[in-house]
Amino acid sequence: MSIEDNPTIFGMILRGEIPSDTVWEDEHCIAFRDINPAAPVHILIIPRKLIPTINDVSDDDKFLLGHMVTVARDIAAAENVGDDGYRLVFNCNRDGGQTVYHIHMHLIAGRGLSWPPG
Ligand code: AMP
Repeated sequence: MSIEDNPTIFGMILRGEIPSDTVWEDEHCIAFRDINPAAPVHILIIPRKLIPTINDVSDDDKFLLGHMVTVARDIAAAENVGDDGYRLVFNCNRDGGQTVYHIHMHLIAGRGLSWPPG
């Protein structure tokens, strides 16, 4: 599916139709601050390619998913939260709490995070 066909709010961000507080951009993904942050640092890393849920990830996407993790590592360092720590989360479908059907990795940091999640 091309970027033009992406019907989600993240598709609108990728097309520049709505603004975002972008902290990273490369050929594979972008990252921007969550509009409703759950912690002092809450950044979403999303692929340019539309993949609705983690269930839809294919073997061809292995590089992309690994790349998103290395981007998260670099953003965590840039945000000065690498040493204190952070959480990377993909929510999937209803029980996972997914609300936007374009996969996104949450990078959450800046306070102690409880476990298990609610
Ligand atoms: P999820 O519930 O895992 O699908 O996460 C979706 C996230 O997208 C939520 O944390 C929202 O606050 C965030 N979000 C929704 N719309 C926007 C937006 N326009 N800009 C930034 N973050 C957004």
